[in-house]
Amino acid sequence: MQFTIARDMESLQEALGGLLRAGKRLALVPTMGALHAGHSSLIELAKNEADAVVTSIFVNPKQFAPNEDFDKYPRSLEADIEVIRKAGGSIVYAPSSEDLYPEGFTTSVSAGALGDMLEGQFRPGFFNGVATVVAKLLLRTLPHIAVFGEKDYQQLCVIRRVVEDLDIGVEIIGAPTVREPDGLAMSSRNAYLSQAERASAPMLYEILGHVGKSISGGSPVKSALAQGTAGLTKAGFKVDYLELRDADTLEPVQNADNARLLAAAWLGKTRLIDNIGVG
Ligand code: AMP
Repeated sequence: MQFTIARDMESLQEALGGLLRAGKRLALVPTMGALHAGHSSLIELAKNEADAVVTSIFVNPKQFAPNEDFDKYPRSLEADIEVIRKAGGSIVYAPSSEDLYPEGFTTSVSAGALGDMLEGQFRPGFFNGVATVVAKLLLRTLPHIAVFGEKDYQQLCVIRRVVEDLDIGVEIIGAPTVREPDGLAMSSRNAYLSQAERASAPMLYEILGHVGKSISGGSPVKSALAQGTAGLTKAGFKVDYLELRDADTLEPVQNADNARLLAAAWLGKTRLIDNIGVG
């Protein structure tokens, strides 16, 4: 299949037209670039489920607050294109801000209550930015499936809700988190960590594991979470949240049935998030 790099909607639709006319099954993998093995795994999974994979690369200004790292977010288009090629992607869609948000753009998709909890408490408006850009990418591409990482678990839940609520006819597939050998979830933001912070960072996953085991073993949720928070603080993290939630609705739960343990914590100036299934 021909490898195409589309920088605007017209060239994207030109590339897609031929595939759709030929009855090909299409997958979309939205990313913000700075691609690593976690992103590759999404593209590979998508390739197994579809004939052609569109990987979008767009650092979405609408999901960054003014005090966040939009300007400093790593950008590496050339290297990203190679990662996509190697993983089996055939279309790269790397639009400009003007292409996605032309002059006069004003509409926003609200993620509602699901977007206000957990991450949303610390990053107000973040999930509205995510929901808006993902809705646009889905509607521009009209894929049969779209793949998102469980690494950003709340995002996955929000997107499932958005496509259901807005009747966007696409199957959303969640892909497992890819980790470094020491357990740290791969993330483009890991590059911000100092050497000392990088050495402490795997404790986030380790402590999630301890807390998860303790809850599955019957410990009271409140004390298990308090112990986990204390452990993280001792390891040098500043904890934004450590919470046990229903794996679908993200409502608080008090036992391990269909539960997800989610955390966000700072190491110095870098904010890490991670989560695991419990029960
Ligand atoms: P990002 O470019 O960080 O916005 O992520 C793009 C997609 O890749 C999202 O669906 C993420 O959940 C997913 N992703 C990021 N890191 C990982 C990882 N370590 N393992 C699996 N998926 C990931």
